[in-house]
Amino acid sequence: MAALHDKFGRAITDLRISITDRCNYKCVYCRTGNEGALYGDLPFEDYLRMARVLVGMGITKVRLTGGEPLLRKGVVEFVGELAKLRRPNGSGGEALDIALTTNGHMLAEMAQPLKDAGLSRVTVSMDAVDPDRFARITRVPNGYDHVLAGIRAARRAGLWPLKVNCVLMRGFNEDQIIPFGMFAREEGVTVRFIEFMPLEEGRTWAPSTVVTLDEILARMAEYRPLVEIPHARSETARRYRFEDGVGEIGIIAPVSHPFCGHCSRIRITSDGKIRTCLFSVWDHDLHAQMRRGATDDELAEFIHGVVQKKEERHHIGEADFVPASRTMVHIGG
Ligand code: SAM
Repeated sequence: MAALHDKFGRAITDLRISITDRCNYKCVYCRTGNEGALYGDLPFEDYLRMARVLVGMGITKVRLTGGEPLLRKGVVEFVGELAKLRRPNGSGGEALDIALTTNGHMLAEMAQPLKDAGLSRVTVSMDAVDPDRFARITRVPNGYDHVLAGIRAARRAGLWPLKVNCVLMRGFNEDQIIPFGMFAREEGVTVRFIEFMPLEEGRTWAPSTVVTLDEILARMAEYRPLVEIPHARSETARRYRFEDGVGEIGIIAPVSHPFCGHCSRIRITSDGKIRTCLFSVWDHDLHAQMRRGATDDELAEFIHGVVQKKEERHHIGEADFVPASRTMVHIGG
């Protein structure tokens, strides 16, 4: 089976697996605050089989996400199983790059076990560097100290490079830009600002709520000059370092500077559906293929067909924009 390419010639090398759509945070730009997982999750061996087939098709990076992936019991052992997968001959039988996106609430205790199991790196979501503001955004009291401890534990464990993602939403945290610049320098982490996308449960998105790349750069320049660092084509973030060489920030700007032309990702939802774009209006039931007894070759054939349907680009902000059929927490960011 040839390596995965879509009909626009994009190589598909990055897989994101959501291992639960439950979350213990209720971030204002993501969830409405309801408690329930809508779609549920699968046994780890099912995700492992999907990952193994996809690695055989050219996937080189696997990112675990959710919901909140650290809520799932057995995640450390699952990382251990993923770490045993090898990229097929021709790419040297190398180990996978295994990453995790987490809100960091439980990371302090889990960072070292995850590293020992084979996790390469971690991205922690953190939307304010002020405990009260953090509580207002996450709608969880006292989370800030846990997350900060998680970030520091991840650094100590060598989960590197360590990235901290901050979604900026006007009216909530646009005044955190400079404080996060300071945080990046003091903590030695890469802080990445993400433009708010229309993927939230509350349907509150409007163009005016997006704090754009240009605005972030202008605000940060008031603090210290930035120099752009060249980035790989498939990288989602534009990268900058401070002129004195201390501290790096990134900006992920899917709204004001879309990067769909270089997209290398597909996603598997917690209930085993393939999504070819965050903004897909349908998904493709890989787990149903497994339930009906498909062989690995048949699964690969199915995945190949699905990848050919990958959308060319999203239509955020355009008159013909149709909201995605799932919100972010049920897709896996
Ligand atoms: N619970 C984990 C976490 O907090 O990182 C993983 C799942 S979360 C859905 C993944 C990422 O999506 C987080 O960095 C979060 O900030 C981001 N995200 C959620 N809703 C978003 C939105 N509407 N626009 C942009 N990013 C969003």
